[in-house]
Amino acid sequence: MDAEQILKRHNLKNTGCRKFIIGELLDGDCALSESEIKKALPDLFDRVTFYRSLKTLEENSIIHRVVLHDSTVKYALNREVLPKGEHAHFHCMECDAVTCMETGALAPVAIPQGFSVDSMDVLLEGTCPGCKRQG
Ligand SMILES: [Zn+2]
Ligand SMILES: [Zn+2]
Repeated sequence: MDAEQILKRHNLKNTGCRKFIIGELLDGDCALSESEIKKALPDLFDRVTFYRSLKTLEENSIIHRVVLHDSTVKYALNREVLPKGEHAHFHCMECDAVTCMETGALAPVAIPQGFSVDSMDVLLEGTCPGCKRQG
């Protein structure tokens, strides 16, 4: 599926900026931060358009946020294989790549009585296969 098809499936207008953001995320397998996406942003899109597009894509569940331990926010595409809220993120401490990871059902967490959990954010940190090979 390409950017245009993704927007169409969500009944969103196919604007250049939305298409650009999805394209960038489709290209790599990794989550990207705002500045990483913006680096490749053509001059014809201004900041306001960029942030508005990012927000629209997030609100329509096309992309999701990954918050790292140092509060860096990265964005990743919602892929069908990764149902929302049911996957972990892996942050490589060597190359800083953030990947969505299919982990199957995450281990149930023992929570005290009286609490109910709506979502769970799992961030794993370590070394990715690419960096492991080099090391
Ligand atoms: Zn790595
Ligand atoms: Zn993810």
